[in-house]
Amino acid sequence: MTPVLSVRDLSVRFRMRGGRHVAAVDAASFDLAAGECLALVGESGCGKSVLASALLGLLPGNALTAGTAVIDGTDLLAADERTLARTVRGRRVGLVPQSPAAHLTPVRTVRAHLEETLRALTGTPRRELRAAVAEAAERAAFPPGLLDHYPHELSGGQAQRAATALALIGDAPLLLADEPTTGLDRDLVDRTVDELRRHADDGRALLLITHDLAAARRVADRVAVMYAGRIVELSDAGRFFGDPGPRHPYARGLLAALPERDFTPIPGMPPELSALPDGCAFAARCHRADDACRAVPRMAGGVACHHSGEEHHSEEPVRA
Ligand code: SF4
Repeated sequence: MTPVLSVRDLSVRFRMRGGRHVAAVDAASFDLAAGECLALVGESGCGKSVLASALLGLLPGNALTAGTAVIDGTDLLAADERTLARTVRGRRVGLVPQSPAAHLTPVRTVRAHLEETLRALTGTPRRELRAAVAEAAERAAFPPGLLDHYPHELSGGQAQRAATALALIGDAPLLLADEPTTGLDRDLVDRTVDELRRHADDGRALLLITHDLAAARRVADRVAVMYAGRIVELSDAGRFFGDPGPRHPYARGLLAALPERDFTPIPGMPPELSALPDGCAFAARCHRADDACRAVPRMAGGVACHHSGEEHHSEEPVRA
């Protein structure tokens, strides 16, 4: 099946003062099919949201990109702003934002937001707007009785549904949800990701960017793990969360840190993206690091680790 989104060797570097560069995303590659949910997981600052911004053409001016990200024949990295604004954002890529309440304009009602988006993306005539607004709200299970409320009058879950309703209006084949469950309690997290999953089941591709592994486990078909700007494992979700489990030492550490598992944090901190080591970026925290890890491991068979094919030695001490 032709993927909805095909990303190859996507890299983003930021040019900083003094000629320094920050490598926020390095050579990310993945495909995403209609009806599929790919969860892009990793700790804050690993490059997940930069990758999302690259797909939407929303990077700041000091960003340098390389590689391709093709959706429906258009390379999102090469497209100009006019193309992105007119044919990509909302139409080919729908964004479910982080902190939806903050994303909505405080002085406008939900109805006003929906009307404006309907007119911009679908050209709905004024006389049909009322029915179209009701239909858009219904698709995201937004309560019709709250359409004339302002964002500050909505609960976190209601604001989330309003944002989802807006993201769905253009019938974009790709939904990009960037940390959509931040600040929500567990019940609401489950409901939110279930609703996003439903939209994938309706035939959209869903890229769920999250640090919440429980949310990813709940709805994802595949999992991509990012560390220090690189995708280090790309795996079927059932195998990743079940048996045999993750293969990359960092991904295994992420799962082991969950309260319902070993509750053992990964020692140390991720490296600064402006000062990545020459070899594997995880080496300073990895109990299996050796001389081979002085070279950057390339992705092979879904994992980027020089020792992924060997037995797990989780009891070994962490290298200082
Ligand atoms: S390449 Fe080496 S340091 Fe990096 S995760 Fe694999 S074993 Fe650890």
